Amino acid sequence: MHVLLVEDDSVLADGLSRILQGHGMLVEVVADGLQADQALQRGQFAVAVLDIGLPGIDGFEVVRRLRARGSATPVLLLTARDAVEDRVRGLETGADDYLVKPFATAELVARIRALARRNTPTPTVLALGQLSLDTSARRARIGERPLELSVREWAVLEYLLQHAARVVSKQQIIDAILPWGDDLTLNAVEVYVSRLRLKLLDAGIAIRTIRGFGYMLEPAA
Ligand code: CA
Repeated sequence: MHVLLVEDDSVLADGLSRILQGHGMLVEVVADGLQADQALQRGQFAVAVLDIGLPGIDGFEVVRRLRARGSATPVLLLTARDAVEDRVRGLETGADDYLVKPFATAELVARIRALARRNTPTPTVLALGQLSLDTSARRARIGERPLELSVREWAVLEYLLQHAARVVSKQQIIDAILPWGDDLTLNAVEVYVSRLRLKLLDAGIAIRTIRGFGYMLEPAA
């Protein structure tokens, strides 16, 4: 699950990001309103977690622009101010939920999951050969056997499955799984793919290397 976290307090952002990643979420962190606006135009996020008080444009304006573009991406607002008018204004602007700081991280995780459940336009099960990926329950299986995947292995495999029988470049994989991640190299993608190949030996599918370009997931010959 891709989550956009918009928070200008870098200590809080780091802490929250780590906690959400610990719950299996892929988190992109940005620290100001304009970057948030751009990220929401570029990426597909299951949920956006938005601080209200931000440099650039504030959280209300980010939500207003998002909804003006017709996007239904669920938004959870974080506010330091325990002011009724902030909550009302946030919900009127198009936010789906809010949390007042300080909050328990378990509550943040639960609210994000609830918002993501409310808005799942993608099919919940992706399958090819013996492999099936239940994207809402986050369970992978080969036949009846559960398949253990790291967060990033999952993200790479999910992207390949969504584009099965089509050639995808390494850069497309990086952009899809981590739009703001400059810490993921083309070599890292190769490492995830070679790990996935080992895990998929008896799945009846193959990740074919398209030399000098990328990969294609297809039924094994
Ligand atoms: Ca702030």
